Amino acid sequence: MYCVHCGGAAGTGDHGPCSGARAALEPPRFCAECARRMVVQVTPTGWSALCSRHGALTSGPAAALTD
Ligand SMILES: [Zn+2]
Ligand SMILES: [Zn+2]
Repeated sequence: MYCVHCGGAAGTGDHGPCSGARAALEPPRFCAECARRMVVQVTPTGWSALCSRHGALTSGPAAALTD
């Protein structure tokens, strides 16, 4: 598995900036399965991120967190 924010191996390195509350609100930029850079589109309700190999991810209900 890879870090979806920096594309590095999830088990190694410093992912502090990748795992904070702020990062949780940002769309993923790299595929967790292959670390390809994904095509990210921000939508009015959240985001969608497309891996050319693994297909699309979309923000789920968790992204509806507001105050
Ligand atoms: Zn990271
Ligand atoms: Zn992928």
